Amino acid sequence: MLALQGDVREHLAALQACGAEALPVRTRSELDAADALVLPGGESTTMSRLLRVFGLEQPLRERLAGGMPVMATCAGLILGSRRVLDGRPDQLTLGIFDADVRRNAYGRQVESFEADLAVAPLGIAPFRGVFIRAPRVENTGGGVEVLASIDDNPVAIAQGPHLGLAFHPEMTDDLRLHQHFLQRAASALESNVA
Ligand code: GLN
Repeated sequence: MLALQGDVREHLAALQACGAEALPVRTRSELDAADALVLPGGESTTMSRLLRVFGLEQPLRERLAGGMPVMATCAGLILGSRRVLDGRPDQLTLGIFDADVRRNAYGRQVESFEADLAVAPLGIAPFRGVFIRAPRVENTGGGVEVLASIDDNPVAIAQGPHLGLAFHPEMTDDLRLHQHFLQRAASALESNVA
């Protein structure tokens, strides 16, 4: 769990409730010890700056190149995109998802809202999406699988082992998306070893 800024505590609690050994990552050695990583919601420009201040940008890029599975929510999804629209010119992108993401795309008046989402791998029961100054996924490449949308805008995407969400699953009691990520990550890690 990247723990430089944002809603770290809620994610840690959700992952632990799923039975995962979830720990905060603030240093290179903590990153090296992790099998998979969650990039939380918060403020993407701040997280971007702190990744550089803590000397984590390069080590993180190396782990990503090595296939480390990532769950990225909200600001984390912005960081994980290939390009940020309406971002700060110096904010970094990790290119985990072959997608462009527009910051704060839902405008000032509707900064926050909730919506029941049909998320393909979760079956029939809807997932309550909590959107807080949410980013919008605008262009996706062929490697991106859309798991849920609102009005044709993807709000949950996957690419290989990675899961990207425009909303905050850690702010509900519903653990299904954390579980889904842990399963995705575990099967990717197993096939890497095999
Ligand atoms: N608007 C924030 C950003 O640009 C993201 C909001 C969030 O993570 N809830 O980073």
